[in-house]
Formats: sequence, structure tokens, C-alpha cells
Amino acid sequence: METDKQADIKTLQEENEKLIKRQSIKADLMSVGAHQIRTSLSAIKWIIKMFIDGDLGKLTAEQENLMRKAYEDNDRAIGIVTELLQANKIDDVIEKKYSFSEVNIIELIESSIFDFSGEAFAHKVEIIFLKPEMKLPTINADKDKFPIVLQNLFENAIKYSNQYGKVFIALREKDGFVEVSVKDMGIGISEKGKKNIFEKFYRDTTAKEKESAGSGIGLFTAKKIIEDHGGKIWFESGKGEGTTFFFTIPIYKGSE
Ligand code: ADP
Repeated sequence: METDKQADIKTLQEENEKLIKRQSIKADLMSVGAHQIRTSLSAIKWIIKMFIDGDLGKLTAEQENLMRKAYEDNDRAIGIVTELLQANKIDDVIEKKYSFSEVNIIELIESSIFDFSGEAFAHKVEIIFLKPEMKLPTINADKDKFPIVLQNLFENAIKYSNQYGKVFIALREKDGFVEVSVKDMGIGISEKGKKNIFEKFYRDTTAKEKESAGSGIGLFTAKKIIEDHGGKIWFESGKGEGTTFFFTIPIYKGSE
């Protein structure tokens, strides 16, 4: 027979487990949400920059002043969200809870390309999606977390490209997986970088010179998410010769 005391302890333990679970879901939502906010803020940043640079026609002095103010405010907001992401250690949080389902990867890629169209235009970089002619199978992915991988790779390909560079996105089916490649013609990765770019907070010196804004957590997070899906991520690069990132993601096999 369970004593009253034992029953109380059991109830407390159950309550505690529920609380921990709820806390982890909350932290998870916050990290994914913060990441999505940062993507939107970055898109806004590049649109404002196009106005300031006069790419969309000459502004009056008053309009330019207001745009500069909007640019600075937006930049500050990006800084705050980036700090939030670091403080929350998106990598630790993201690992906790995945919800896998059938996902159309073509639609996700097209939607990410759309999100980065302003940034690509501002950097004078063209994104070319080499959509396969054959119908591709759907993938087994977390529809909130998997897009973070695409966002990180697209953002890097654009920001580490040179002006008038091109970014090629391609995909194919291979041995139970869909393999995606993101190829740029940018600054490339140094020999030291090749050993370290998936480490948390690592940034190549040339990358820092080209783009002061960066956290060094994007690839670390992308690798974690891909591996938690059962895929692999790797790259080919030479300094000044551009970079191609590849990753694989399992095909959806139906609910078993
Ligand atoms: P961040 O871009 O914020 O610095 P990431 O974790 O996304 O952080 O990338 C880590 C580092 O890997 C970058 O700082 C850069 O040195 C290198 N890197 C990533 N993608 C590319 C790329 N497409 N071309 C050149 N270098 C890259």
C-alpha cells in the first residue's frame, strides 16, 4: 500500500516533470521564434539599404534621414535578437524537441529564397534555383527547425559573395536521401577555417573583414539540426574560389 507521503512525492515528481517539459517547449519556441524574427529583420535591413544607396531612385534629404534612422533602429533590433539567440544557446535548446512530418523541400527552398531576395538584391548577388525536372520525394523533417538550415546557408552564401556573384541551389535524390547543394562564387574558406567552421563562434578573419555582423553560430546550429534529422553536412571550398555546402536529409517514408 502506498503511504500518503509516497503518494505526495509521486505527485510532486509528476508535476515537476510536467513543468520541465513545458519549460523546454517554451525555450524551444523562443529560439525558433527569435531566429525567424532575425531573418525578417535582416530582410528589412537590406530593403532599407537599397533605398539609402539610391538603388530605387534618389531620395530627398528628409527621406534619406528617416531611412538612416530606420536602418539604425533595425540594426539595433538585429543585435538584440542575436544576443538573445546566443544567451538562449539555440543549439542546446534546439536539440531537445523535434516534431517530424512530411515536408515538401522545394516549397521550403522557394520560400527561403523569397525571404532573402531583398538581401541578395542589396548585395548585387543573383540566386539561381536549379529546380530538378523530375518530381522529388518529400522529406522527413521538422517544418520549423529545418528551414533554419536553409536560412543559414543562403544568408552565408549571399554575405560571403562578391558583388555580381551568383548563388546556385540544386538538389537531387540519392540513396534514401535528398541531397541539397548551395554553391557561391565568394571569398571561400581558409585552411584554418576548413577545420573549424562548424565550431561554435568560429569566424574566418576574411569573413570578419567582409561582414562585421555575424555570430559564428549559424553553421554549428545547421550541423546540429541536420544530424538530428539523420543527415550529413559538408562543404568544398578554396580561398577566393567560392564555396559549396552540401547536406542530405532523409526521404519521408510514411508514418510507420
Ligand atoms: P557567421 O556567418 O555568423 O560568422 P556561421 O556559423 O554561419 O557564422 O559561419 C561560420 C564561419 O564560416 C563564417 O564566419 C565564415 O568564416 C565561414 N563561412 C560560412 N559560410 C561561408 C561561405 N559561404 N563562404 C565563405 N565562408 C563561409
